[in-house]
Amino acid sequence: MKEEFLKHLQRILQEDQWALEEDMSSHVTFRTGGPAEYYVRPNRRQIQPVLSLCSRFDIPWMVIGNGSNLLVGDRGIRGLVMEIGKMMDQISVKGDLVTAEAGALLSSAARYAARESLTGMEFASGIPGSIGGAVVMNAGAYGGEMKQIIKSVTVLNEAGQERELAAEELDLGYRHSCIPENHWIVLEAKLQLSKGNQEEILGRMEELKSQRMKKQPLEYPSAGSAFKRPKGYFAGKLIQDAGLRGYQVGGAQVSEKHCGFVINKEKAVSKDIRQLIADVQDQVEAQFGVRLEPEVKFIGEF
Ligand SMILES: Cc1cc2nc3c(=O)[nH]c(=O)nc-3n(C[C@H](O)[C@H](O)[C@H](O)COP(=O)(O)OP(=O)(O)OC[C@H]3O[C@@H](n4cnc5c(N)ncnc54)[C@H](O)[C@@H]3O)c2cc1C
Repeated sequence: MKEEFLKHLQRILQEDQWALEEDMSSHVTFRTGGPAEYYVRPNRRQIQPVLSLCSRFDIPWMVIGNGSNLLVGDRGIRGLVMEIGKMMDQISVKGDLVTAEAGALLSSAARYAARESLTGMEFASGIPGSIGGAVVMNAGAYGGEMKQIIKSVTVLNEAGQERELAAEELDLGYRHSCIPENHWIVLEAKLQLSKGNQEEILGRMEELKSQRMKKQPLEYPSAGSAFKRPKGYFAGKLIQDAGLRGYQVGGAQVSEKHCGFVINKEKAVSKDIRQLIADVQDQVEAQFGVRLEPEVKFIGEF
């Protein structure tokens, strides 16, 4: 059956667009995790045929963007991983509306907007995700979030149809959208910005960049903030107050620079990171009665 599936896959994709047993650690910012049974990098037109093939051969599939919010199990992922990245990264602008394909990086879209003197997405310029991942996560920082700028999103639904959905149809909330539960694939987003002063836009982006560099352990692999912000608290502060600054499991560590970050300090495996996250949850709950919820998504087998 595998041969048959591959034969069909090769009819859809070029040789450099698919791989078997692909090492996932090179596709996620934690730099850990086992192999994906099938790994594909389709362009927009190829997604639907790949999905039909998966359904015909009963192969489970999942989508990743830039892998900056994912922890992949050390035993890898059975089924097919579809990367929406460089094969779909066009950005264009009409008036004050930016249209970006799902594989474009947020940083590229923010720079593009700045070049056009469009303001509104400076907050996103240092978030290392793709447009697709940022829409799914309703990514945000420094008082801004994607919800504020998304006008509409074009998705591919399970029936294989493209649908343009208004922002209100996406149930956007704190690090949440209804896209994963509907098994939709984000193809592109229209972002509503407004005319601004280019110097000020670039200045704000520089300012936020230096704040990140000063406060975040960007010299180590991580997935950013490991936990969502619990109502009424800050995750990093709770972790620090629980005495967990620098707490380590194997090669994984609660960052000494920013306790909200879990870092791959030294050759960590995903099991170390998962255990450390669980320990932090237990200890913070035991001391403060608050159960932290991971922001990082766990995928594959651990
Ligand atoms: C150093 C660092 C700093 C960070 N700072 C921030 C921050 O300030 N604010 C913030 O919100 N996040 C931050 N993050 C986390 C991360 O960058 C965001 O969550 C980002 O939006 C994830 O995008 P991605 O493309 O990497 O998605 P991935 O991690 O690849 O995937 C995340 C989720 O989106 C889904 N997905 C991705 N693309 C698509 C698509 N095209 N269609 C359907 N589903 C899709 C995946 O299935 C998965 O469920 C940070 C991460 C790092 C490493």
